[in-house]
Amino acid sequence: MFIPDYTSAILRRLEDAGYEAYIVGGCLRDMMLGLTPKDYDIATNARPSEVLALFAGYKTITAGIKHGTVGVVTGGTVTEITTFRSDGEYADHRHPVSVEYSDRIEDDLSRRDFTVNAMAYSPKRGIVDPFGGAEDLKNGILRTVGDPAARFSEDALRILRGVRFASVYGLEPEPATARAMLECACLLSAVAVERISAELFGTLAGPYAEKYLHRFKGVLAVVLPELAEMASRQDPVRGDMLKRALYAASVVGDPVWLRLAALLEHVDGRGRKESAELAGEILRRLRVDRHTRENATKIVGEPEPDDLSRAGIRRLMAKLMPTLAVGRLKLCRASAEAAGEPEKADRYARALEIADDILLSGDCVSLSMLEISGDDLISLGVPPGKKLGKLLMQLFEEVLEGKTENTRHALAARASDLIAKDNIS
Ligand code: ATP
Ligand code: MG
Repeated sequence: MFIPDYTSAILRRLEDAGYEAYIVGGCLRDMMLGLTPKDYDIATNARPSEVLALFAGYKTITAGIKHGTVGVVTGGTVTEITTFRSDGEYADHRHPVSVEYSDRIEDDLSRRDFTVNAMAYSPKRGIVDPFGGAEDLKNGILRTVGDPAARFSEDALRILRGVRFASVYGLEPEPATARAMLECACLLSAVAVERISAELFGTLAGPYAEKYLHRFKGVLAVVLPELAEMASRQDPVRGDMLKRALYAASVVGDPVWLRLAALLEHVDGRGRKESAELAGEILRRLRVDRHTRENATKIVGEPEPDDLSRAGIRRLMAKLMPTLAVGRLKLCRASAEAAGEPEKADRYARALEIADDILLSGDCVSLSMLEISGDDLISLGVPPGKKLGKLLMQLFEEVLEGKTENTRHALAARASDLIAKDNIS
């Protein structure tokens, strides 16, 4: 089991002081899957004040101390050290009313959501796995610790975490867990929308997103009723429109605004404009940040480009900005695949190659990349004003079209020519 030096140093320091210390939760699950964990969480029987005293020489973060968590900064990395806890009663289907510290790692593991997340490991004490998490992981099974309905009604967010773990790791919820996920889904309406969005985004990025979001569309329906409605609209290839949207969202790739655009492209059966509007409403309701929301809705509202020549793609980039233009093309390719139109998908795949080449070659795709400026035109004798703006736009158009070369020399010559003929359209 490979543990980074900065983590094993913390474990050792706690153990040397007479405490128990384990890495715990998601990092262990990821390591057992052969993945590199994002972070290593530590659980210990030391109380937060004792942790603080032990790491007095380090920068510490105490924002989570109420919940028993102290962050210790070593070598520029924050490691969260949390005292063994056993949660008391839960309120509002989300938060434990009381948190009690415990001296036993087993208590701490029993409050965790899924068996695969309820394991601990210490170099000194080995693996602690009271709920058979390693076995479930090996068999690809997602199972709650304890009675699933009880665990989901304590904290409904676990349902969405479950969908995410299924989507990301391909873990199959065992029958009782799956049933309870659907039965308890309505409790999700009590969960903060930011948490819901975060889980949803994580789910969308998983390789098994299409499969599990469709399987758990009853869960999706609580957080995104508009999508559930899509399941009643039929598509000749993939069955219902929800399946098609989920397929497109899972193959389109990152970033998240692109996945959201794919998910919501046909959210309103009436058309593109209506879908863009509804997408904007949905994303506002989900409190998605503005940048993500605006990019997603812009893409949904933008018609599928049909001029896929180099000039056409440059014009698309000039209109939308390069990242959005590439996103629009990627979505066209994904949508065509989802709709079972491989030739169309191929056309967009070729367009994407051209787009790459445009960016790599540094083709002019914005006014600021034009090798001549308004000031240059003034010094050529064009009076400032409307005509100047028009001339600049005309030169830009011609460069996009490939009719005029984007060099100072060529542009100045062309400008003089147009001025002489007073042929500014
Ligand atoms: P990832 O970090 O990959 O999103 P994770 O499982 O590490 O997944 P975290 O939110 O980092 O998720 O939580 C760390 C651990 O805390 C989990 O592995 C799990 O044991 C426990 N945990 C997190 N959220 C809950 C919850 N809502 N209910 C019960 N246990 C939880
Ligand atoms: Mg984690």
